[in-house]
Amino acid sequence: MAVATTKLEIVTPDRVVYEADIAMAIVRASDGELGILPHHIPLITGIVPHAMRVKFADGRDEQLIAVSGGFMEVMPDKIIMFATSAEEPVDIDVNRAQRDMERARKRLAELHASPMTAAQRASLQKEELALQRAIVRLKVAASLSHKDEK
Ligand code: ATP
Repeated sequence: MAVATTKLEIVTPDRVVYEADIAMAIVRASDGELGILPHHIPLITGIVPHAMRVKFADGRDEQLIAVSGGFMEVMPDKIIMFATSAEEPVDIDVNRAQRDMERARKRLAELHASPMTAAQRASLQKEELALQRAIVRLKVAASLSHKDEK
């Protein structure tokens, strides 16, 4: 029997980043990890920066996609992810992500070393998210080189 599939669309403010028929998506929502199969009950949930995992019905290797924050709508036959930014492995500039990671780490260290005002707390949150986005991009880009090694 053929494996059931569902449509996945990842949309950012600039473009549709990804569109495919998939067998399963594993997503980090604001309240934890979710595995979404075809015919899932309808839901809307927030998403945090993470490496989303996509599985296919034809046995192709699982794919990772870097997704920043946003939200996701799940319908029985379609998943739409509205992300502030998202990239497939080939589209990731590794040097840029590396620089972003180092900059966020440096700023976080500076923030931790100074007294914590409300403004500092907001900056801390912003830098923590920037660090997560960079780490996610590096992880997703690395999944491409692991595939090449096979
Ligand atoms: P930066 O400070 O380098 O812009 P950021 O995490 O603040 O990083 P976002 O605001 O999430 O960036 O995204 C802005 C745009 O830049 C989006 O189109 C996103 O896809 C793209 N982008 C950000 N970092 C990278 C990267 N390392 N490789 C490819 N595209 C990237």
